[in-house]
Amino acid sequence: MKETSDLFQRISEDKSKREIAYFTMEIALEEDIPSYSGGLGVLAGDTLRSAADLGIPMVGMTLLQQYGYFHQGLDAKGEQIETEVKWRPELKLKQLPNYIALKIENRVVEVRVWEYDIVGKYGYVVPVYFLDVNVPVNDEKDRKINRQLYGGDQFIRLCQEIVLGIGGVRMLRDLGYRDIRTYHLNEGHASLLALELIRESGYNSYDKVKKACIFTTHTPVSAGHDVFDFEMVKQVMNPVYSEYLREILDGENPVNLTTISLKLSQFINGVSTKHAEVSRTMLKKPQITAITNGIHSASWTSTGFKKLFDQYLPCWDVDPTHFVRAVFIPNDAVWKAHMMAKGKLMQAVEENAGVRMNLDLLTVGFARRAAGYKRADLIFSDLERLMEIGAGKIQIIFAGKAHPKDEEGKEVIRNVFAAIEKLKGKIDVAYLQNYGMHLGGIVTSGVDVWLNNPQRPREASGTSGMKAAHNGVLNFSVLDGWWIEGCVEGVTGWAIGPDPTENNLTDYDERQDTDSLYTKLETIIIPMFYDDREQWIKMMKNTIALIAPYFNTHRMIKEYALRAYHVCPLFQ
Ligand SMILES: *Cc1c(COP(=O)(O)O)cnc(C)c1O
Repeated sequence: MKETSDLFQRISEDKSKREIAYFTMEIALEEDIPSYSGGLGVLAGDTLRSAADLGIPMVGMTLLQQYGYFHQGLDAKGEQIETEVKWRPELKLKQLPNYIALKIENRVVEVRVWEYDIVGKYGYVVPVYFLDVNVPVNDEKDRKINRQLYGGDQFIRLCQEIVLGIGGVRMLRDLGYRDIRTYHLNEGHASLLALELIRESGYNSYDKVKKACIFTTHTPVSAGHDVFDFEMVKQVMNPVYSEYLREILDGENPVNLTTISLKLSQFINGVSTKHAEVSRTMLKKPQITAITNGIHSASWTSTGFKKLFDQYLPCWDVDPTHFVRAVFIPNDAVWKAHMMAKGKLMQAVEENAGVRMNLDLLTVGFARRAAGYKRADLIFSDLERLMEIGAGKIQIIFAGKAHPKDEEGKEVIRNVFAAIEKLKGKIDVAYLQNYGMHLGGIVTSGVDVWLNNPQRPREASGTSGMKAAHNGVLNFSVLDGWWIEGCVEGVTGWAIGPDPTENNLTDYDERQDTDSLYTKLETIIIPMFYDDREQWIKMMKNTIALIAPYFNTHRMIKEYALRAYHVCPLFQ
């Protein structure tokens, strides 16, 4: 491996060898860099971590958020208390001497840049660049542009996307990258970069630009797609770009950034097979293909399981196909590693929510952004029935932030709190505050069952269930997103509700899901956990062996490399 390391480090430094620039509005790199809000950012971080491990010639481009995504407190009724997270970029990132300039509403805006290096397993570095307009020479108005992730109004949002897209391409040039062939638009937020590519290479260069862009769409929910009134676009952007926009969109108003990405990308994908299918219909684009998401295996595996994998499946972290042999790990070793993670979770629950839980009870976890369609409160639809089934047998752990403007999401949190009150003394339920990367790792690895029950077909992929599976935690989920591909009933976990069919968003019968949830909990999951531990552990091993080899970002980024970037990983 010494030779691999030497080679990786040598190639790492040569900027002419970087071919792919990955543009993303959010990215989760460390718990203390609050530059992400949820799954999209976690995926971006995991993607570039895998690129660094495998030596895929990429760089990342994002926006520095001065205040990061908010800190979540919760009062006794589950009311979300939002406080700004002031962080100090200079403690985490390296400021570079480079500056570029942009025009916004006829003012010149200076953009500076900070670097974070992701160092892969063998020393290959994937740099991530954070663009920043909070520069003293800039107008006060402009210095607020990158105050907060997804904060502010439409105007701020557009400005952020101008800085990321147009500023990002200019900054790459200033940093000395001359051979970037592919621009990966991670969601429509990055799509304005295509306009800068058009400007660089001349007016009639759409085809050329199209060859350079690839676009990943991440959500079938409309809030995920940005639209701006053309009048505002004209007022804010340099006329060169608004003219391109008018032409590309054929005068269509409002300006939809997803449409631009669709028109100017040669390769377009959804993030699971089902999501690609839904997107083809929703976006009227038959060519949309699927590359199913993954997670960075080594980042989401508990200490106990890491040791176990090192012992029984050497090289699992560079080549996750080794996970198939997880079935040969002795049962008692698997259970011991699991109980270690569970103990750590119990401790975190006590510290975070003041609830002392029982290490021996079947523990169900549900943690993700509190958005209405994810239905965190579904398990509480019938409290009588839940008490009958679960009193003395289960305990439940929740976590998740609601977007500050998402009233529906906030209501879901209050509903969970109301249920906690009603279940007191019967079933322990804890809601952990301030869900982020760190808690995410503890919760997904420490529970026994990972619950997910979004409204079909709104979960594009979901990745937290993949984290659970890497730790032998069994998924119990609605058949949507990645789980349609990962679920083998009774082998890797269990499905909630009916098979995924088309058009079931319009005639949705929620009772089918709740009934299935309660019935399987009562008749299959609880009995197996207490009365057939051997079978349970066998399923834990099956879930690692069948899910982890595929649902990881090493496999995912290799698929992008092969099908979209047309480059080879250095380490295969
Ligand atoms: C993995 C992860 C997510 C993604 O959750 P899904 O609902 O499964 O997509 C969101 N937030 C954090 C902090 C995570 O670690």
